[in-house]
Amino acid sequence: MTIIAFQLQAVRSRIERAAREAHRTASEIALLAVSKTFPASYIEEAHAAGQRLFGESYAQEGVKKVMALGGLPLEWHFIGPIQSNKTRLIAEHFDWVHSVDREKIAERLDAARPPDRPPLQVCIEVNVSGEATKHGVAPEALADLARAVSGLPRLRLRGLMAIPEATPDVQAQRRQFGRVRVLRDELAAAGIPLDTLSMGMSDDLEAAIAEGSTLVRVGTALFGQRERIQP
Ligand SMILES: *Cc1c(COP(=O)(O)O)cnc(C)c1O
Repeated sequence: MTIIAFQLQAVRSRIERAAREAHRTASEIALLAVSKTFPASYIEEAHAAGQRLFGESYAQEGVKKVMALGGLPLEWHFIGPIQSNKTRLIAEHFDWVHSVDREKIAERLDAARPPDRPPLQVCIEVNVSGEATKHGVAPEALADLARAVSGLPRLRLRGLMAIPEATPDVQAQRRQFGRVRVLRDELAAAGIPLDTLSMGMSDDLEAAIAEGSTLVRVGTALFGQRERIQP
């Protein structure tokens, strides 16, 4: 067994245990393998061990891998900050985008989504930590953005994504993830039901699952420490 296959099994076990403790079914929780900064060969290895969903944070690097691995039946998720001049690349090559936080970006993705592909599956990134440096729409502005995204024909709004402030305090992690769940419930009450909560990473996936995560984004625990912040 390769190291990546071994780590995949360990992460899947963590998901199963966290689901059990939350009285949930592990099959409700998707695992997104975050492969940013790692070579395509790592993705092939993870795929050989049964992994199908992969996440990338940098448009050009991600598209290179999508194209290099075009022969494999993988699902590609863009999870990084979106610059306007990268919307076409992202809309043409990815299946999902988790980091929409402005109407202008949503409109550009919608306009650039090729007609021969299914609608781009979208999560809106919400800033639940209140840190000024974080990306994501403020909770107060979420409903308006969700309504705008819902109206775009080439996008399909699926859920919310959040990257809470990193803290070793599990209760503090849960409070932040809980806020995302409440926002999802409030949108449902306002007539915008969503099926995806993209939350939880290597260090806090248990807390995210306890608060209702349906998709955890895991890099380090699968592929090891990233050497570079940016490729
Ligand atoms: C890099 C990244 C991850 C993975 O984080 P790890 O701590 O390595 O698991 C998850 N989500 C986003 C948005 C990321 O940029």
